[in-house]
Amino acid sequence: MIPAKRKVYAVGAFNIINLETVLAVAEAATEEKSPAIVAVTPSAIKYGGLQYLSKIVRLAAETTPVPMSLHLDHGEDFETTSKCVAAGFTSVMIDGSHLKFEENIGLTRRVVDMAHPKGVTVEAELGRLSGVEESTVEEKDAILTDPNMAREFVDRTGVDTLAVAIGTSHGAYKFKAEPKLDFERLKLIKEKVDLPLVLHGASSVPAWIIEKAAKYGAELGGAKGIPEAHIQKAVSLGIAKINIDTDLRLAFTATVREVLAKSPKEFDPRKILGPAKEAMKEVVKSKMRLFGSSGRA
Ligand SMILES: [Zn+2]
Repeated sequence: MIPAKRKVYAVGAFNIINLETVLAVAEAATEEKSPAIVAVTPSAIKYGGLQYLSKIVRLAAETTPVPMSLHLDHGEDFETTSKCVAAGFTSVMIDGSHLKFEENIGLTRRVVDMAHPKGVTVEAELGRLSGVEESTVEEKDAILTDPNMAREFVDRTGVDTLAVAIGTSHGAYKFKAEPKLDFERLKLIKEKVDLPLVLHGASSVPAWIIEKAAKYGAELGGAKGIPEAHIQKAVSLGIAKINIDTDLRLAFTATVREVLAKSPKEFDPRKILGPAKEAMKEVVKSKMRLFGSSGRA
């Protein structure tokens, strides 16, 4: 079923690490008739290999009847981004959000100058999210994006998309209390910056996945994400790309636990990873419907 067309929508960027996770995204995109961004982090590259992952994704993009692109998530330095550009990525993120403003501008500008002549778009980040992804940032060290600085940053770097910090957080343990996104700030940023804005740390950590994982032995008490209504509001205010990693990991792992617990005699990896892939695919599909990208391809 294709939901009614909304005026605005966001495209999901789904993190992958291996064949099964690529297939989950490709099959979901095909079934939902949705565009999809496949994202890899430097640690995913360390795990799966740059050439292996980029070639699997390229094959998926060539054989999938909807637009699929390959994105570097949280590129940490110039070298990593240029290697990914050379490997055929369609977009790269350079994350200089931990640097001082001028240093972030300098690094981002350098990556833009390298990537644009090759037709590769660049995402940068201004402000700082709390949580755990490539590195850990304490909640007290998180910095929300300043709208005026965002304008200057975009003007001086020439980036194509900008990741903003408006109160989301990386990982499965996002909040001690209720999540609070700064929608006023997002509105102001969108007024100042006429670019697609990106939301990181936006997993919802669905209760049903946590319950399933816990039922089969996981210890994930206190995991908490962003309510889906908040995500839809952020999309209506200008968020055009949403990164999802944690929810996919949770769905995959909860299902592996379930299969192993229910079928103790099973030792065929395909019978374990197959259902895990299906669970991840269902989560990707539900995100595409939530973001309004279903039926857009
Ligand atoms: Zn991120």
